This record gives sequence, C-alpha cells and structure tokens, in this order.
Amino acid sequence: MTPYDDSPAQAPAQTPTPLVDAFGRTVRYLRVSVTDRCDLRCTYCMAERMVFLPKAEVLTLEELDRIASAFVGLGTRKLRLTGGEPLVRKGFLDLVRSLSRHLTTGALDEITLTTNGTRLAEFAQGLAEAGVKRINVSMDTLDPEVFRRLTRGGDVAKVIAGIEAAQAAGLSVKINAVALKNDNAAGLPGMIEWAHARGLDMTLIEAMPMGEIDEDRTDQFLSLAEVRRELASYWTLEDLPLNTGGPARYVRVAETGGRLGFITPLSHNFCEACNRVRLTCTGTLHTCLGREDASDLRAVIRAGGSDADLIDAIRLAIDAKPQGHDFHIGRGEAPSVARHMSTTGG
Ligand code: SAM
Ligand code: SF4
Repeated sequence: MTPYDDSPAQAPAQTPTPLVDAFGRTVRYLRVSVTDRCDLRCTYCMAERMVFLPKAEVLTLEELDRIASAFVGLGTRKLRLTGGEPLVRKGFLDLVRSLSRHLTTGALDEITLTTNGTRLAEFAQGLAEAGVKRINVSMDTLDPEVFRRLTRGGDVAKVIAGIEAAQAAGLSVKINAVALKNDNAAGLPGMIEWAHARGLDMTLIEAMPMGEIDEDRTDQFLSLAEVRRELASYWTLEDLPLNTGGPARYVRVAETGGRLGFITPLSHNFCEACNRVRLTCTGTLHTCLGREDASDLRAVIRAGGSDADLIDAIRLAIDAKPQGHDFHIGRGEAPSVARHMSTTGG
C-alpha cells in the first residue's frame, strides 16, 4: 500500500544501463527540490521579497515520485530531498514513505534530506520510521540575534530543539553552515566545538553566486581555504578518506574528536568526480549546479509521455551534463546562474 490514491510505479526490476555522462561520470545521486517555498529567508539564499511559484507549476507528490523512481530504475542509489524547505511541503512524509519502497527492495541505498530544522521536532520520528537514517540540518550560527538577522526572522532555538528531536529519534545529523565573512566567521570554531560535543558532524560551505539577493556577494564570500588555515593554526586537522557521496572533503579535528567537512566550489573545484543531478519542484532537471542547463521533465510527463519517454529525456539530459561549473564572485557582477539555490535544491 502506498499513501497515494494511485499506486506509483515500481522501479524496473531489470538492471538498466546506468546513467553515464559524456565525461565518463556515472550519475547515482539525485537531489529533489520538493518546493521552492520556505519559512525562512536566508540573506545569501533568497531576496527578501521572493515570488513563489503558482501551485499548478509545481509537481504533485505523485509526479515527484514518478520522476524520482525513474532515476532509481536507472541506477540512482541516493536520493536527497530538499527545497526550499522540504518540511513545509504538504504531504512530505507521504512522499518519503512512498519512496522508501525502493529502500525495501534494495534499489536505493539511502533517502536523506536537507532541512533548516525549524519543523524537525514535529517530523523527526516520522522520518526515522519512514527509513531515513541521516539528515543535514542547515544552521549558520548559534547566536540567536545573528540567526534572526541572517534568516530574516528565524528562531535558532527551534532548530536546536529539532536537532535534539532528530537525535532522540535515532537520526544521524550533520550540521551545514555557509561561511560568511561578516556574519558568522568569528563564531564558526565555537559552533564546531558545540556540534562535535553532541556527536554531530559539521560541514562548512562556501557561498555560491546563485540568484539575485539584496547584498553584494563579495561582502559575504569567505574562502574556506582561509578558514581551514586559521583552524589549523590552533587545531590538528587530520585528512579523512571518508566519501559520503557528496562534494565534501573531511578532516578529523583531533582536539574535539569530531568530523569536519569542507565544500569548496570556488576555492577548489570538485566537478571531476561529480555524480549528482538536481530536479526542481517544477520538474526541471539541472545536471550542473553552476550552469544554466535545464531539461523539462514535467513537459514530458504532462504531455502523457510513457516511462520510456521519460527515460529517454533523462538520458538525453545526462548526455549533455556540462564538464563543470563556472562560478565566479566579483564586485558588482551578476550571479553566475540566475536561479536561486532554493529553486535548484541545495
Ligand atoms: N531549506 C533547506 C535548508 O536550508 O537546509 C534546504 C534548501 S537550502 C537551499 C540547502 C542548502 O543550500 C543550505 O545548507 C543552504 O545554507 C545552502 N545555500 C543556499 N544558498 C546558498 C548559496 N548561495 N551558496 C551556498 N550555499 C547556499
Ligand atoms: Fe530557506 Fe534553506 Fe534558503 Fe534558508 S537556505 S532561505 S532555509 S531554502
């Protein structure tokens, strides 16, 4: 039984030819943005006044399931659900429960999500029961005032309560923080200690030039090469071979005993090993985070396309996956890509 009215298709039982792009990279990781909406307005992610999509343009849960399942049928092993804020999408848990059938069959290794954590206290148990084992929680600062300013009104206490609920439900939690020169840089070492003391991994992310925001990104951009040098001046950072299937490189901080990741699209390009593509909530497939390439899978399914048509459209898009991004941050420059991270699905 699935929670939907109609039973969504199972991933095909036969082993299909995997999705390999023109540069020999096999795509096994799909990120799905389930909504462009969010209850926060992080300054580096969104403009203060965002225009959100009309409902008719957004894929239904069944459509999201159908496309994600087509990917699973083509060898995708990992699904990350994101947004916008995934936990504000109505029926989100139904989607997770339904997709978890691919965990049961062994077609999928993992369903995970990236969330801002504000509603996690409410959802943690349900997520764990639906087969989610690990989640990423985005939290850029522990300071309630800085958090309120950075998110334009958010309450960090709710996020911390959400993290605690997730841990109590048995979920493994990683904290993601975007490093921002003027906003949270000074607080990062304290946050790393806080996270490691609670058994949480932590990953730092460089701000990427995606979408128009209300500030100049040169004021915010902080190279993680610089942050790493500074941390290494008082901590021992031991390189780890850990690969979680994403773009982070990990170290163990000897003094805290915890793991720290660095996602450095600007100071160190990671495209050569890219195994990921992204589906927006409108069914647009972006095969590169930092390029304007786009394939409209919604058009295929809403025109009545068969599963074979959908698979053809996916393969065509993967064939054209760009070699790498072209991120660049300069004063007064337009963003490298026009769409916001909240549209693409970070
Ligand atoms: N709302 C959820 C959250 O915040 O975790 C999921 C979506 S959010 C777009 C996913 C991740 O993208 C978050 O960790 C956020 O900090 C990050 N992000 C958003 N805009 C970014 C940007 N311009 N550069 C780098 N990371 C960004
Ligand atoms: Fe919302 Fe996440 Fe973007 Fe912040 S980073 S505005 S929480 S989508």
